[in-house]
Amino acid sequence: MTTQLDHPAAAVLDLYRRHLSKGRARLAEMTGGQLELSSHGAHVFGAEGRRYLDCGGYGVFLVGHTHPAVVEAVVTQARTNPMSTRLLLEPTAAWAAEALTGITPEGLDRVHFVNSGAEATEAAIKLARAHGKTRLISAAGGYHGKTMGALSLTAKELYQAPFRPLLPDVTHVPYGNAAALSEAIGPDACVVVEPVQGEGGVIIPPRGYLTDVQRICHQNGAFFVLDEIQTGLGRLGQWWGADREGVTPDIMLVGKGLSGGVVPVAAMVATAAAYAPFNRDPFLHTSTFAASPIAMAAARAAVETIDRENLVQRAADLGELLYGELSRIVAGRCPDLVTEVRGAGLLIGLELRDEHVAGAFVLELLDRGVLVNHSLNAHKVIRLTPPAVLTDTDLTWLLTAFDDAATTVKGLF
Ligand code: PLP
Repeated sequence: MTTQLDHPAAAVLDLYRRHLSKGRARLAEMTGGQLELSSHGAHVFGAEGRRYLDCGGYGVFLVGHTHPAVVEAVVTQARTNPMSTRLLLEPTAAWAAEALTGITPEGLDRVHFVNSGAEATEAAIKLARAHGKTRLISAAGGYHGKTMGALSLTAKELYQAPFRPLLPDVTHVPYGNAAALSEAIGPDACVVVEPVQGEGGVIIPPRGYLTDVQRICHQNGAFFVLDEIQTGLGRLGQWWGADREGVTPDIMLVGKGLSGGVVPVAAMVATAAAYAPFNRDPFLHTSTFAASPIAMAAARAAVETIDRENLVQRAADLGELLYGELSRIVAGRCPDLVTEVRGAGLLIGLELRDEHVAGAFVLELLDRGVLVNHSLNAHKVIRLTPPAVLTDTDLTWLLTAFDDAATTVKGLF
């Protein structure tokens, strides 16, 4: 048997090419074919001691990598009861639900745990249908996952086209435009939006939009689903995007950071009224691995860690500092290549002139050991979603690398 460490990068690349995806292997080649072998805090480690500062990770690592409290909870659970029979009562699910509902907006106290963000979206679509809400409304640029139901909401032609027909009766309205939502809505509608669009390229809606969405949904007897998979759990410098305007949706979707960066887990959280069909019949929507004790241990430890270490406030403070510094660097180094810098907490987007400039910027940062992501629904926007555990040394590394990268990219275009 071989371990990951026995493989030089070329062998891993070859296995990717032969067994996983040629396209993925090609992408890896373009980015230098580098390995990721271990991680801790804000850092990821590759072969030969190479170290990266993780400001990407698609928003998963708010508490950093391999946080000792989350790892300890998961390892302990793995040694005692990692998976459950699903017939008996299993306490870790109850404790995780208690921890999560302890920090959700008032009234959102029912939880259905799942294994991924897309599964949380699917659960919401089905719960809405159980209430007769058969028409779906989402926002242009919105991202809600890529399973068939979630993909029907994810308004991106590139991902939808090969898989049509998707769910019927789905309308995409312009994001941030309450009047357009009013036009489209009806009593049979389920409205799904993000409080800030992440994969859409860090799009921050006008103040009052979420309040308007809530009001329009209430007035029309429609369901309001707020997708907080990327924005929730402190990422925006508040516990939830919902807190930006004090709204309470019928359903809130949680994922990414809920894993504590250790075990995949997501959740659909609902009001008692919305949850009623799942409350009555626990077999209406199930999945073998949902609410597995190892995932529940991770979820509870993640929530407790964010709370104990005051990471929500830390995300707000770090986010403000980073937004200011990145804006300053851009203005000094390459103002004509950057259309806008946008940010809320530690979800920061840099909109470049086009996707080629964005690609070059990502590669230049990678060359300097800094990992960032492009946005799945807006390829010209690069996204920084660093952990809320960045140290002063990490900040210096990031800002120096960013300054260098901006200078180099300016020279290329
Ligand atoms: N919803 C939002 C807002 C997301 O950002 C994502 C993933 O990026 C998803 C849903 C889908 O989550 P997953 O990739 O875990 O299926």
